Amino acid sequence: ILEVSDLKKTFNDIDVLKGINFTAQKGDVIALIGGSGSGKSTTLRCINMLETPTAGEIAIFGQHIDLIPDHANGLKVKSKEQLRSIRQRIGMVFQGFHLWSHLTIEQNIIEVPTQVLKIPRDLAIEEAHELLKRVNLFDKRHQYPSCLSGGQQQRAAIARALAINPDLMLFDEPTSALDPELVSEVLAVMKDLASEGRSMIIVTHEMKFAAEVANKVLFLNQGVVEEAGTPNDIFYAPRSEKLKQFIRSIK
Ligand code: ATP
Ligand code: MG
Repeated sequence: ILEVSDLKKTFNDIDVLKGINFTAQKGDVIALIGGSGSGKSTTLRCINMLETPTAGEIAIFGQHIDLIPDHANGLKVKSKEQLRSIRQRIGMVFQGFHLWSHLTIEQNIIEVPTQVLKIPRDLAIEEAHELLKRVNLFDKRHQYPSCLSGGQQQRAAIARALAINPDLMLFDEPTSALDPELVSEVLAVMKDLASEGRSMIIVTHEMKFAAEVANKVLFLNQGVVEEAGTPNDIFYAPRSEKLKQFIRSIK
């Protein structure tokens, strides 16, 4: 479903990604771990082209993303059309919830399906209700985001990302802005998604969660995938000194 080859990104002459390589198969749940500044968010943002790579290749959903030289900044996406069609198949959930504050929870969820995907409103609402039940927020559907707890807002953000029925979900530290007691309710929703075979890439500092739900773990260090493997390999049989250090540091 995704193939990232020799992905590089330079910001202001600093090489943030120095050649990232990995693949994701359909149904994979990949945890991206690594220290602060190792390039996890940048990698995720390059996948849906919120950042354009400086060099390298990305193929997704069987399509090679066509990048062309951009005199200002490395590469740019050649076809806006292609970009749009790819983005419509990717759901993204960030650390902050980024819900639209002037819309109710239900309106947040139906916004893209009705406005962008042109799904009839009745149908979009029906689907939104299913998603809201799934993330246990049905009774909050007419509230505004500011009336919800952080955990509830993040579950609403997940429901909104799911509303396009994405083929790939990207999560960037979805629980790191939450109070500790709200973390587990969000992780439970994500675990549920993983168990239904949804392809997901999750940047997380929740190592226990990563070990439980991921089938692959990538350890990023200074802009490269230093080590990759199953949760068992990574957490119980780390090979590189950097990974051993990292695991000691989080225990
Ligand atoms: P964290 O765990 O703290 O979220 P991360 O692994 O997600 O870290 P990135 O956000 O990918 O790290 O950032 C990697 C490096 O790239 C950092 O040194 C950061 O300062 C730099 N960087 C990221 N985005 C930009 C940007 N838009 N402009 C300049 N530098 C950036
Ligand atoms: Mg980050």
